[in-house]
Amino acid sequence: MKSTLNLHMKDDATRAAQIAEGGFGRHYTDHMITCHWSEKDGWQEPELVPYGPITLDPATAVFHYAQEIFEGMKAYRQPDGGVSLFRPEANARRFAKSAARLALPQMSVESFIETLETLIKQDSTWVPNNIGESLYLRPFMFATEVGLGVRPSNKAMYMLIATPASAYFSSNSAVSVWISTEYVRAALGGTGEAKCGGNYAASLVAQKAAAKEGCDQVVWVDALERKWIEEMGGMNLYFVKGKGADATLVTPKLTGTLLPGITRDSILSVARDLGYTSQEVMISIDDWRDGVESGEITEIFACGTAAVITPVGSAKSAIGTWITGDGQPGPITAQIRSHLLGIQHGTVEDKHGWMHRVI
Ligand SMILES: *Cc1c(COP(=O)(O)O)cnc(C)c1O
Repeated sequence: MKSTLNLHMKDDATRAAQIAEGGFGRHYTDHMITCHWSEKDGWQEPELVPYGPITLDPATAVFHYAQEIFEGMKAYRQPDGGVSLFRPEANARRFAKSAARLALPQMSVESFIETLETLIKQDSTWVPNNIGESLYLRPFMFATEVGLGVRPSNKAMYMLIATPASAYFSSNSAVSVWISTEYVRAALGGTGEAKCGGNYAASLVAQKAAAKEGCDQVVWVDALERKWIEEMGGMNLYFVKGKGADATLVTPKLTGTLLPGITRDSILSVARDLGYTSQEVMISIDDWRDGVESGEITEIFACGTAAVITPVGSAKSAIGTWITGDGQPGPITAQIRSHLLGIQHGTVEDKHGWMHRVI
């Protein structure tokens, strides 16, 4: 890979302060990766360059027609000081699927992972050391053909940036949700399964509506019947039924409109490893209310790479408000979270071969 090193890398004290500051996406590492594609010449050699702004023509396709996709994953410090990624092949495959849906070029799994490894190795001092902390990696790709004609772009640019993520973002207190039956995130045949920026752009007004209802997050239902629970904001959902060793973890089934989360998929296995039953099923708004009211649903949480696991407390919808738990993560939510973090940080056995060593 071609590389141009940053001559103005942040000094140790600045870097330490920025890592300690935490948050999500506030500071970026010293380098980034860029790679250009054209229909004529295919993918060019990726380049490692100093992190910084890029210049694009105002008529660049992505600004007008939102032909863009992204991924999100984390690199974790290991007990011996090394650094590992969690299931990067799954992100690479999903990136390729998103690319196909948005008529963008596909990058091979190997090339995608090579860009991650190169940036992590170069900026390894940015990987935090504590459990729950990590280096968040954001690969993305967008249409760069210049012109206002509506057609699949004949040029695209791939980029990879990285930002230290602190435990701070992994919310420990329960969020309240507004179940939106007015706005929908995705419909069959649409882009719900693809990780594209456009899905998020279309979701912001519903997020605003949730805030107006006094809720932290929006929960999406299906577009057709407006009753089947799909996701919460940019995270997948889990419902814990029952208690103790007999508990069952259920998550909404992938119908073609949900984003297939890698955390969601991992929890299906982790739950079984811990002796629980896990199932993918259709869950309606009524099931949610009835389950909470009867006491069958004991815990609810949302999951995704960025926040790992976030407990869900009160749910508000057109048919009422009902509350699960006491605002703190329930025992099974906490257990799943610490088991998953343990695998990622190398303190719990990685039975499924999920960890990918980089350094
Ligand atoms: C990224 C994302 C998720 C979570 O996926 P992970 O692979 O677990 O990070 C869930 N829903 C949406 C809409 C997403 O964009």
